[in-house]
Amino acid sequence: MIAEFELIARYFTKASPNALLGVGDDCALIASGRTIAVSTDMLVEGTHFFHGDDPFLLGKKALSVNLSDMAAMGANPRWATLALSLPEANESWLEAFSGGFMMQAQDYGVDLVGGDTTRGGLAICVQIMGEVDAEFALRRSGAMIGDEIWVSGNLGDAALGLAHLQGEIELDEADAAFCLKALRDPVPRVELGLGLCGISKCAIDISDGFCADLSHILERSKVSAEVEFAALPVSKTMEKYRTAPLGERAILSGGDDYELCFTVPPEKAALLEAMGKRLGIRLSRVGRIREGEGLVVVDEAGNAKRVGKAGYEHFR
Ligand code: ADP
Ligand code: MG
Repeated sequence: MIAEFELIARYFTKASPNALLGVGDDCALIASGRTIAVSTDMLVEGTHFFHGDDPFLLGKKALSVNLSDMAAMGANPRWATLALSLPEANESWLEAFSGGFMMQAQDYGVDLVGGDTTRGGLAICVQIMGEVDAEFALRRSGAMIGDEIWVSGNLGDAALGLAHLQGEIELDEADAAFCLKALRDPVPRVELGLGLCGISKCAIDISDGFCADLSHILERSKVSAEVEFAALPVSKTMEKYRTAPLGERAILSGGDDYELCFTVPPEKAALLEAMGKRLGIRLSRVGRIREGEGLVVVDEAGNAKRVGKAGYEHFR
């Protein structure tokens, strides 16, 4: 079996042009004249992914979910570390996993500069670091009364994919492929996050579900929100399920979307829409920030429902 140092050298040691010193010493050395945004996300087998999941996509997603946090802060991702707990040193698994991770790292200009490797249950912990101007960072506390609430992409496809895997719903082949791609291979909105600096002051990435994540913004900004259910963006696939309880639940509180939810003053809407076009990302205006506290979702019949942090359970 491959030894630990050899494993690190073979699969996790790549050129790191963003760092003064990368993998191989006691610490990496990085330097920047800017403010550093730092975030960590852990993926644990059985909690965040299934035993036997494709290792290439798992490696890619492990970085993507961290890139999504950078996006939500308006930060430019530059460095990452990777702590891995592995049940065994399976080389074909490691080859695929590091291939997915490194491909995504290269695509987004991130250097893997260090990490740790131990034996144990399969768990993947990534720390990511990026650069941001503190003044322009997209903070959860930045929503202002009168701001409009926007969402990128579509909501709920990943949750629909998960429901399909868990046998709660049976999607046809094309819909299943589409939703499972959303679940296993989310696209982090890094370019959008960078573009939002100066247009928006407030963003969050939707990882736990739209209502739950918007609620974090509301709490930190000490404001309330009114959202129109019909304005929430959905895919053609989700369109078939949006009025069914399962679809509604996926849209409002499904996890793993990795879209951005952000607030923008109305006078900047045209600027924002132009940016969305330039980046080729669907941007949808879904509601408005108001005084007070809590989240109200107005359904198609015009009924306003107060939504708790958990979303769906309190919605119906
Ligand atoms: P230490 O004994 O100081 O913890 P290690 O032997 O664990 O050092 O790691 C050796 C080098 O390899 C360090 O630079 C560490 O950051 C790096 N490293 C270990 N595991 C990984 C990994 N999974 N991915 C990237 N770098 C790693
Ligand atoms: Mg170590």
